[in-house]
Parts: sequence; structure tokens; C-alpha cells
Amino acid sequence: MVELTQERAVDRSQMQVSDEVAIEIRNMNKWYGTFHVLRDINLTVQRGERIVICGPSGSGKSTLIRCINRLEEHQAGDIIVDGTELSSDLKNIDKIRSEVGMCFQHFNLFPHLTILENCTLAPIWVRNTPKKEAEEIAMHFLEKVKIPDQAHKYPGMLSGGQQQRVAIARSLCMKPRIMLFDEPTSALDPEMIKEVLDTMIELAEEGMTMLCVTHEMGFAQAVANRVIFMDQGQIVEQNEPTEFFNNPQSERTQLFLSQII
Ligand code: ADP
Ligand code: MG
Repeated sequence: MVELTQERAVDRSQMQVSDEVAIEIRNMNKWYGTFHVLRDINLTVQRGERIVICGPSGSGKSTLIRCINRLEEHQAGDIIVDGTELSSDLKNIDKIRSEVGMCFQHFNLFPHLTILENCTLAPIWVRNTPKKEAEEIAMHFLEKVKIPDQAHKYPGMLSGGQQQRVAIARSLCMKPRIMLFDEPTSALDPEMIKEVLDTMIELAEEGMTMLCVTHEMGFAQAVANRVIFMDQGQIVEQNEPTEFFNNPQSERTQLFLSQII
């Protein structure tokens, strides 16, 4: 049995999964040149679902996440996000990017802009939000991630955990309906992991649809309604967390879990 690393009480009663489909992926395949990186991916994500994706390094987790907001192109099959099919139509890509927020392992903040400016940049330039309104929205989300007092500092003056919370706040300023996380805590010192996970738990409690690539299995147990295991470009196994951890079906999943837990 896996120990929960989360000390925070998590309120799962708030985390309703609706009947509405947020993301539909059908028979999706992707190649990098001749390398077949994603093989026949089928995945339906309902609105309100919290999905944790795990698997060995190189299994295609980041590529899958990046295909969902079209940072990478797929070559076969369909990806439909919020009813919009991802194709080379630029209008579709803009629409998807405005509805899907993303946080990476490295926070990718602009070092020469203040925290507040990092958060208002896209709303002002992409959404044409008036500056004052963008700043109000940014302060709202900086309060939510508990660092409004850092608004006028530069990223380099903040800890890694604080910078990642800024990155989350910055995504939220675009009012996304879906959040994608790609190993958001794996570059952080242990004492900072919890503060970022707590922020993600709050988002989950507010009903955000989330796909998180993470090896934080305490988070997966506390928050996820589904855990997906990938290996060699395929979804090998998926299940609700208790079954997934206590009763993994495939040998590859068993081996992976024995190595990380
Ligand atoms: P994961 O996130 O599970 O570690 P990735 O999606 O990053 O896996 O990578 C899957 C595979 O694709 C790896 O073998 C990686 O080397 C390869 N890969 C990733 N990005 C590229 C790229 N831009 N060009 C070519 N190969 C890539
Ligand atoms: Mg990765």
C-alpha cells in the first residue's frame, strides 16, 4: 500500500465529474521523423476529471500532453478539445490555446518581466484585456496561489516553488477550462513540492479538468480519479487510483510501480 504524502485534507466531494466530454482522442499516432512516438492513443476525458499520467522516461508522456494543445502535431487520428478538432487550421489552434493552460517542469517565466507583468502579458496582448483589468485578474490569481506580495519582484528573486505557483497563476489568468501539467514539481526541492501540489489540489477542488504528468503518487491517490500508465508510446493500463496502485494488471506497470514507490 502506498503512503499518502499529502497532509492536507482533500475534499473529494467537490470534485464532480460531468457527462460532458472535455477531450476526446481517437486512434492518435505521432511520429518524430521515422520514430513512432505515440501509438494508437485512445482517451476520453470528461469535464472535471483529474487524470494522472505516469510511466518511464521516454514513454511519450510529454509528447501526448503537448499534442493536446498543439505544441506538437499528430499525424494520424483525431484530437478534439472542447468540441474543436485539432487540425492545421490556425483559428482552431488559437481557440484551443486559449482554453487549455499548461505548466511545465521549468517554469518558463520571462526573467526580465516582473511577476505581475508575466501574468498580464498574454491577457493584454492575446486577449486585448485593458491593462488595469488584466492587473486585477493577475492579482486575484496571485492571491489564490498565495504570493500577492511578490507581484513586483522578478522571477529570479523567488524560490522555485514560488516561481511554479506564478506559472500556474499566469495560466489561470487566461481562464482556461482545462489545465495540463508536465512534471510541475520534478525540478523543485522537496520542501517546495508540497506548496505546488497544494495549489494543484485547490484547482482540482474547484472543478478544473486536469491532466497531470507526475510521479507524485501521493497526489495521484489524493486527487486523481484516474491514473494512466504509459510505456513505449502506448497507454498500457488505466484505472481508478486505489485499484491502479493495489492491483496493477500488466507486468510493465508492476515493474514501474516497484521502482518508484
Ligand atoms: P516522456 O515525457 O515520457 O519522458 P517524451 O514525450 O519526452 O517522453 O519523449 C518520448 C520519446 O520521443 C523519447 O524517446 C524522446 O527521446 C523522443 N522525442 C521527444 N521529443 C522529440 C523531438 N522533438 N524530436 C525527436 N524525438 C523526440
Ligand atoms: Mg516528459
